[in-house]
Amino acid sequence: MPDPNGFLRYNRRLPARRPVPVRITDWREVYPPAGEELIREQATRCMDCGIPFCHDGCPLGNRIPDWNDWVRTGNWDAAVESLHATNNFPEFTGRLCPAPCEAACVLGIGGGDPVTIKQVEVEIADAAVARGGLRPRPVPAPTGRSVAVVGSGPAGLAAAQQLARAGHAVTVYERDDSLGGLLRYGIPDFKLEKQHIDRRLAQLAAEGVRFRTGVDVGVDVTAEQLRAEHDAVLLACGALQGRDTPETPGRQLRGVHQAMTHLVAANRAVAGAVAGRPAPAVLADGTPIDAAGKHVVIIGGGDTAADCLGVAHRQGAAGVHQLDLYPEPPHARDAARDPWPTWPWVLRSYPAHEEGGERVFAVAVQEFVDDGAGQVKGVRIAEVTVEKRDGRRIVTALPGSERELPADLVLLAIGFEGTEEQPLLTQFGVARNARGAVDARADWQTAADGVFVAGDMHRGASLIVWAIAEGRAAAAAIHAYLGGVGTLAAPVTSSAQPLAAR
Ligand SMILES: Cc1cc2nc3c(=O)[nH]c(=O)nc-3n(C[C@H](O)[C@H](O)[C@H](O)COP(=O)(O)OP(=O)(O)OC[C@H]3O[C@@H](n4cnc5c(N)ncnc54)[C@H](O)[C@@H]3O)c2cc1C
Ligand code: SF4
Repeated sequence: MPDPNGFLRYNRRLPARRPVPVRITDWREVYPPAGEELIREQATRCMDCGIPFCHDGCPLGNRIPDWNDWVRTGNWDAAVESLHATNNFPEFTGRLCPAPCEAACVLGIGGGDPVTIKQVEVEIADAAVARGGLRPRPVPAPTGRSVAVVGSGPAGLAAAQQLARAGHAVTVYERDDSLGGLLRYGIPDFKLEKQHIDRRLAQLAAEGVRFRTGVDVGVDVTAEQLRAEHDAVLLACGALQGRDTPETPGRQLRGVHQAMTHLVAANRAVAGAVAGRPAPAVLADGTPIDAAGKHVVIIGGGDTAADCLGVAHRQGAAGVHQLDLYPEPPHARDAARDPWPTWPWVLRSYPAHEEGGERVFAVAVQEFVDDGAGQVKGVRIAEVTVEKRDGRRIVTALPGSERELPADLVLLAIGFEGTEEQPLLTQFGVARNARGAVDARADWQTAADGVFVAGDMHRGASLIVWAIAEGRAAAAAIHAYLGGVGTLAAPVTSSAQPLAAR
């Protein structure tokens, strides 16, 4: 029985982040562990309300009140078991999830402070490692059926683990040189150190999952070959087609890049240094790309932009501006617009924002300015208003509001346009829809029989928690398709959407 008064005795508290002057000299994670005393106190704030809305906020349906109470009473083994019953990779979500569960916590009604659910989650995940590692689960006798998973992001890996644990032979194909999808070279180490991925991969391998890196499906191996070798195929190739702005004058200048180009180069350099092979951050053709000593302009306001900001600080940028097309959001939930327990539109600040840089809202780039030798030297911006007309976004510049910001490096973090157009799609006989995603039927199959889809490739660019949830649900559908015994957990349907008021 949980403590019904815990939230009256304790305020919401999180562990202090590592000091800015220290953390920007390295690439280690920003948050230190909370420590047992703090986290048990915070778990005590959960009152196990009759209807736990946090369950609905979490796409995985994590049993939050259950594990909060196990932590409160110090029963870490039970907490670890309960958390892993619904989430294959809580060490990823506990570090990286924006925590829609907390927006749906009953303690947040009327502007109160929700339980620190995400922090409790990561402490349980880390406790699992500290208490003997991520031991492989015993797998049942082989079913004799085999599945190819294309893409090793959280969707592909969650599906692979579920299917292997059901006795199927699973091979994950990844075109990159290392596994993990965006978690590996997209998301910087200061948000997720890569040993967390490696530990999980070791567990998956011990449970029988086979990995083939450096294999671009559709190029190095054809869809036909894959279908001949396996009884079912899961496509989990992400939504990596970066949005661009080709119509903006000066887009072709040197120094104007897609954000992912910068992040991947920086994260590869960090991976090299961690492995004892320090090398500068470079583009695929060997050209250096680094923010050191540069004026950096980041265009965009989401996760990707914040990650570029943190990387720019650590590389030693001279100054950073982060531009957002929209006005500054409110600092607290507007209950008329986004009533509890939905996900509110509020200003989201990441640890990178307390490290420096200036955020500029309600502006749009008019031109990338040439230094006369083909290199960008500035960004001309104007203040704008944005309105929706007939479903279209109309951006209007305010006359006389133009000004120029210095810029030696410009990073476009303006979103993704769905999954990449690549040979694999035509070979499997699936097509991108108007959003650039691949549709799934109710049983997670694409237009091609026996070919399933999950994660960002299906939803469009989204979140890790959704990728894991979709990976689990698609695995359940594949298990049924293969005639497997019993059913696997399916936390979401293929048409599931986040909690919304309209
Ligand atoms: C910079 C950045 C920061 C982010 N930060 C957060 C965050 O803090 N919290 C959060 O919840 N979400 C965050 N996200 C979103 C999150 O990373 C994604 O939603 C999630 O990784 C999607 O998982 P996925 O498995 O669907 O695809 P991905 O992680 O994109 O993995 C797809 C994989 O498929 C591989 N692939 C593609 N085509 C082929 C092929 N033909 N053959 C073989 N392999 C192929 C790719 O190489 C890739 O490894 C962030 C995204 C970005 C870009
Ligand atoms: S996965 Fe995300 S939404 Fe679910 S409990 Fe963890 S932090 Fe909350």
